Amino acid sequence: MEDNRMINPELEDVEEERLENSLRPKTLNEYIGQDKVKESMKIYIEAAKKRGEPLDHVLLYGPPGLGKTTLSNIISNEMNSNIKITSGPAIEKPGDLAALLTNLSEFDVLFIDEIHRLHKTVEEILYPALEDYTLDIIIGKGPSARSIRLDLPKFTLIGATTKAGSLTTPLRDRFGIVNRLELYNPEQLELIVKRSSTILGVTIDNKASKEIARRSRGTPRIANRILKRVRDYASVLGDGTITLEIAKIALNKLEIDELGLDEIDRKMLETIILKYKGGPVGVETLAATIGEEVDTIEDVYEPYLMQIGFLSRTPRGRIAMIDSYKHLGIPYEQK
Ligand code: ADP
Repeated sequence: MEDNRMINPELEDVEEERLENSLRPKTLNEYIGQDKVKESMKIYIEAAKKRGEPLDHVLLYGPPGLGKTTLSNIISNEMNSNIKITSGPAIEKPGDLAALLTNLSEFDVLFIDEIHRLHKTVEEILYPALEDYTLDIIIGKGPSARSIRLDLPKFTLIGATTKAGSLTTPLRDRFGIVNRLELYNPEQLELIVKRSSTILGVTIDNKASKEIARRSRGTPRIANRILKRVRDYASVLGDGTITLEIAKIALNKLEIDELGLDEIDRKMLETIILKYKGGPVGVETLAATIGEEVDTIEDVYEPYLMQIGFLSRTPRGRIAMIDSYKHLGIPYEQK
């Protein structure tokens, strides 16, 4: 279990959350990579400030651990406003959302993580709030019930999701700014590992930071998590300095291979290759065979496997690509 969690970019526990917060960049300039997103956000923020208006509503999408929450905090920082953080499933009733909205101040950022999981009844009262900063609430019950309209402060909604495709069209249409976050390349992850080491006060070799970067499957949260574990090994096995040798020992113990793949990645690819003749196999069937959730497969495992050309998503199902056979040492048969 321990090893699967290394790869899973979802947060582990309170301690990790604390570490994560200490490692979060605070300004756009400190935020590494995602250059296109940063450039456009800089312009939108500048323009909104010049006009003295709130920033348009922003949708951020992409796999977990890529910096959506971090970027939202930065946006509110750069707008000199406050941020309130919540998540789709946490807002159970329209009244919960009404309470959140009426407590905002002008130009505040409301961050809703997993916005694709908002309840329908909640989502509906969000529409007028996003469009004209108004809230329609119903007071009373039965024949005496009446609807009143409240004015809300001009706020900015930042919605984050791993599944942009699951958003309803009316909700998606209400975001003026839509940004997709990409997996990071090894050079960017190396900078992130170095930056985090400095904050944590550990010395790390260039070769060791390269190694961790290469095995972090494009995801800053995973890079930071591996760094934390490697740091433990360095303090027990050496003098606290992270060398390439120590990094390798730790990564191997964590069963993260040369490319950053873990047990589940390998099991998934092996299943497609050996049980389903290389595919195509439907994601539900695959999930049932390996005992994982469809969502985990789609959000956590597939983006990186596709990025490195090991897996292809087709309308008929998932296909294992030739490079994955090579990596697993399974002979490839031309079909
Ligand atoms: P998400 O909300 O997409 O799941 P987070 O914003 O929580 O991801 O980011 C996870 C961790 O990765 C944060 O602790 C942060 O330190 C680090 N991180 C994310 N993006 C960057 C970045 N561009 N530069 C530096 N660190 C980053």
